[in-house]
Amino acid sequence: IKADLALYEAKSGGKGRVVQFHERMDTEYKMRQQLKLDLKTAIDEGRLKLAYQPIINPRTNRIAGCEALARWTHPLYGPISPTTFIPIAEETGMITDLTAFVLSAATRDCRAWPGDISVAVNISARDFRACDVEELVTGVLENTGLPAVRLEIEVTETALIEEQEAAGAALQSLHRLGVGIALDDFGTGYSSLSYLRSMPFTKLKIDRSFVADIETDPEALRLLTNVAQLGKDLSLQITVEGVETDGQLAIITGKTGVDFVQGFLYGPPLSFDAMTRLLASHYPSGAVPELRLVASR
Ligand code: C2E
Ligand code: MG
Ligand code: MG
Ligand code: MG
Repeated sequence: IKADLALYEAKSGGKGRVVQFHERMDTEYKMRQQLKLDLKTAIDEGRLKLAYQPIINPRTNRIAGCEALARWTHPLYGPISPTTFIPIAEETGMITDLTAFVLSAATRDCRAWPGDISVAVNISARDFRACDVEELVTGVLENTGLPAVRLEIEVTETALIEEQEAAGAALQSLHRLGVGIALDDFGTGYSSLSYLRSMPFTKLKIDRSFVADIETDPEALRLLTNVAQLGKDLSLQITVEGVETDGQLAIITGKTGVDFVQGFLYGPPLSFDAMTRLLASHYPSGAVPELRLVASR
């Protein structure tokens, strides 16, 4: 046993390791608790920011709109990914305030842009349980005066499964007002295909995992093509997410009928100012603009 222990300690870097592990667990737990408190403060004090990622029609090379993505820079820890803080907001019930903030800021910002530019906002499954999403969205649209057709709501399959009734009713009402309804990260969830017909979607956003290998793997390309066709057969618009290379773009425009692309190739999520400048340079000339952006914010 002593020999085993010595071997174990040698492998794992010494006696102190077990203790360190517990300390680390403790630290992680404390950090998460701290993040919860700080996120609440950040939301209450309006310190979250939005980044806007352009969504492009690859045939005309023109910007159709953008997706609003929440950004949080922690005073001590620096930028925290939304994949970390959105789940915290969901668990703690802060998500509704966060969603309300994002909706207000995004619709207000969109009003500063040309009239054919739309903005997409992510709505969490929790929102459908925690608040009246229809009321929230219509209230925000009234306040900011953005036409409903310039707003798109993105929901994931999880939202629909967890909150089928509430989500269905809210989405129907918003759809009647002219708000676009996009199914986000399509292909990564568990929704049955029947949802695609029973919910009032206007658009499918095909998850970036379907794009990653299309340059090298014919099977991956067939899968993407067929998923896009499925959406077309249901009369939905299609956005492909996560387009990173020229090769991917060429294949997507050549071999699939997708309507829009979004990804680092055309541009990362941008600050409001950078998005505004991009749109300004994009519009007056009428010429096909240079859309490729350096990753500057
Ligand atoms: P999402 O809604 O699918 O947003 C797209 C994510 O993919 C963004 O990450 C974006 O930066 C990233 N992305 C865009 N183009 C590329 C690309 O070419 N390659 C790669 N690898 N990634 C790309 P981000 O901003 O970190 O957001 C992650 C997720 O966090 C979002 O996924 C969304 O589910 C959630 N999220 C962000 N903001 C909000 C929000 O305001 N409310 C809610 N409920 N969720 C949000
Ligand atoms: Mg999204
Ligand atoms: Mg997405
Ligand atoms: Mg995604």
